[in-house]
Amino acid sequence: MKLLILLFALFSGLYAQLSVAVTYPYIADLTKTVGGEHVEVQLLSAGHWDPHFVVPKPSLVSKVRGVDLLITNGADLEVGWLPPLLSRASNNALAQKNHILELSKSVQLIDIPTDTSRARGDVHADGNPHFHLDPRNIPLLTDAIETFLSANDPTHKHEYHKNNLAFKQTWSLNLKRWESQMAPLRGKSVIQYHPLFNYFLRAYGLKSVATIEPLAGIPPSASHTLKLITLIHEQKPFTIMHDVYHSTKTAKFLQDKSAISITLSPHDVGAMSNVTDVTKLFDTLIGNLR
Ligand SMILES: [Zn+2]
Repeated sequence: MKLLILLFALFSGLYAQLSVAVTYPYIADLTKTVGGEHVEVQLLSAGHWDPHFVVPKPSLVSKVRGVDLLITNGADLEVGWLPPLLSRASNNALAQKNHILELSKSVQLIDIPTDTSRARGDVHADGNPHFHLDPRNIPLLTDAIETFLSANDPTHKHEYHKNNLAFKQTWSLNLKRWESQMAPLRGKSVIQYHPLFNYFLRAYGLKSVATIEPLAGIPPSASHTLKLITLIHEQKPFTIMHDVYHSTKTAKFLQDKSAISITLSPHDVGAMSNVTDVTKLFDTLIGNLR
């Protein structure tokens, strides 16, 4: 009998899965890559949604209620929707030390405002939270996920390490490929709807000269749009990198007035039907721009 109990304990230990809630699809993909068969991921949003404004529906509350761990983007990207979700779920496991990982703490943020007023817009007072769109940040994120999963499940730490290592080896080849694909665009300028792609543009030496939003989180206005027409004629940005979840109405107006092109650009896994993982996210972003 004792032997049976011992065997049971051994096998349930080997096959136990960590249940991990994650806020965005790219985190789901990276967590599955590192965690493999030992994690079960509960995704709290979809890739074609506006990441700033997820609706904390009851179905999301029940997803969070049963999990052991939570991985978030951080840098206030979830500030409008995750706190109410967590308080409704009242999951005691997540109140324990080191059961929540905030990925923003593993990277260097850019666009940090120098003043604390909201003069720069309605969102992102702590800096730009869209750091996963610099492909060079991705290995920093999988390292953070490996450390986090290993601390909470030391039994499988060697597998987490092996999975992460294999991923990073392939990723470094991807980085070289993307670097050479983007080289012809170095030094060029773009317009964006929202500063979603600042990390991506910085990685490849491109510049964002304006956003269709007058300030981050503020919808387009007639006076700002008219200024953009002048700016397009003067600075000649080659395209508008447009997210998939805002209306392209203002972008199309700008196109009518200036002949600038519009590049529909995925910001996360699932933003477009062919973007099924983080590698395809960058393949599509880069492929659409070229
Ligand atoms: Zn944003």
